[in-house]
Amino acid sequence: MVSPIFSRNRKVKILATLGPSSSSPEMIEKMYRAGVDAFRMNMSHGEHEAHAANVRSIRALEKKIGRPIAILADLQGPKLRIGTFAEPAVMLHDGTRFTLDMIQKKGDATRVNLPHREILSTLQPGHTLLLDDGKIRLQVIRSDGNSVETEVIVGGIISDRKGVNVPEVVLPVSSLTDKDRKDLTFALEQDVDWIALSFVQRPEDVAEARRLIGGKAALLAKIEKPAAIDRLDEILELSDAVMVARGDLGVELLPEQVPPLQKKIVAAARKLGRPVVVATQMLESMIKSPTPTRAEVSDVATAIYDGADAIMLSAESAVGDWPIEAATMMDRIAAQVENDPSYADRVHFTETVPDETTADALAAASYNIARTIKTSAIVCYTSSGSTARRMARERPSVPLLVLTPNRHTARRVGLLWGAYAVITRDVTDFEEMIGKAKRMALRHGLGEAGSRLIVCAGVPFGTPGSTNLLHIVRLIGDELKRR
Ligand code: PEP
Repeated sequence: MVSPIFSRNRKVKILATLGPSSSSPEMIEKMYRAGVDAFRMNMSHGEHEAHAANVRSIRALEKKIGRPIAILADLQGPKLRIGTFAEPAVMLHDGTRFTLDMIQKKGDATRVNLPHREILSTLQPGHTLLLDDGKIRLQVIRSDGNSVETEVIVGGIISDRKGVNVPEVVLPVSSLTDKDRKDLTFALEQDVDWIALSFVQRPEDVAEARRLIGGKAALLAKIEKPAAIDRLDEILELSDAVMVARGDLGVELLPEQVPPLQKKIVAAARKLGRPVVVATQMLESMIKSPTPTRAEVSDVATAIYDGADAIMLSAESAVGDWPIEAATMMDRIAAQVENDPSYADRVHFTETVPDETTADALAAASYNIARTIKTSAIVCYTSSGSTARRMARERPSVPLLVLTPNRHTARRVGLLWGAYAVITRDVTDFEEMIGKAKRMALRHGLGEAGSRLIVCAGVPFGTPGSTNLLHIVRLIGDELKRR
């Protein structure tokens, strides 16, 4: 069975994190039917066998519905953690001294182990350390390379193995730990479509991961460190997509700094034609409640108006009580926003000037044709997916039907704004190109008798990077009978 693609009725994609609340074949299918286009496996949690079972469920669902589905494996990255305490929890009082050191002894209200010499030796007086997602704030007073003495600026209760953030420092660590390397090998064996790299600090982190991935999956860089913002364009150039990872970004920076940065990252990614995901706490209250707060709905809507390629469910779908309702809610918000007459203007607030390439010239032309005459879709033949990304970058008013012989390309489209992929054999001549475009558009619910399609392809057919042909065709009654 092939599901009609455009029952989705929206361009923005929904990425949902799998976890205990959603890890069964039945739940995965329900989430897909509620609107989820791509699934995220969070490698910070869960055993490999549980992730492998989810991959099997998603691939079985692909077969059942006849549609490609994207899977993203999100590597944990170098999340720093303190050691353990002698008591279940200790209270750090404002104004007191607290030391972090290399001593492997249980901690108390005066000290705790931080088993990262490279971090301890990088910290200087005046630097800030944040514990437990920023709840506790420490300021370094003295550092001797093996330990740092700090003053507790904002105290609180702290317990074993809580996370440590060091926002002002470019840490001398790779964004791939030993665990990440093992998880990466596993994820590539599972043939996932996207690898997400956490705590990227510099373009070199992305280059290193790219080398290890070796083209077997696309790479998404999570932007969650201030250092990554400083080198955003270089990181974007080397990445296939980015994520505004607002959880850690909001710890490393002040919460009020996150909204302008979200706009900056989304705009920068769109200008370069890299898919951008807005993530974390989008419908946070739906972890426990079947309905979101008005502010959450507004936050999701803002990301859609900004033209994000995808919006993400995190804890809502991984450990929440209402994963299906959360996906349905995102789908409903997206449909409402994208039907707002002001949406097209708002989404084009970010100007995307075409590069001097044939693909960009055709993408800009397709966008303008769809504004000038009534069309029901842009049909785009591509093998690497590059033409589809350039077309989506224009944010055209009609859906983008991506025809590709490459299943990896087809699945990766799961994070691309307005684009829906169909795996199909390459065409060899012009007649076949037009015939197949019409058949596929009709089969997937795009267009009716009389509606027009914009078809883009490259001649010679099947040659990557050759996009050079644009044709406008009209669907006629006979074709409807033959579909
Ligand atoms: C985030 O910090 O927003 C994020 C998506 O990363 P993680 O869920 O892995 O902490």
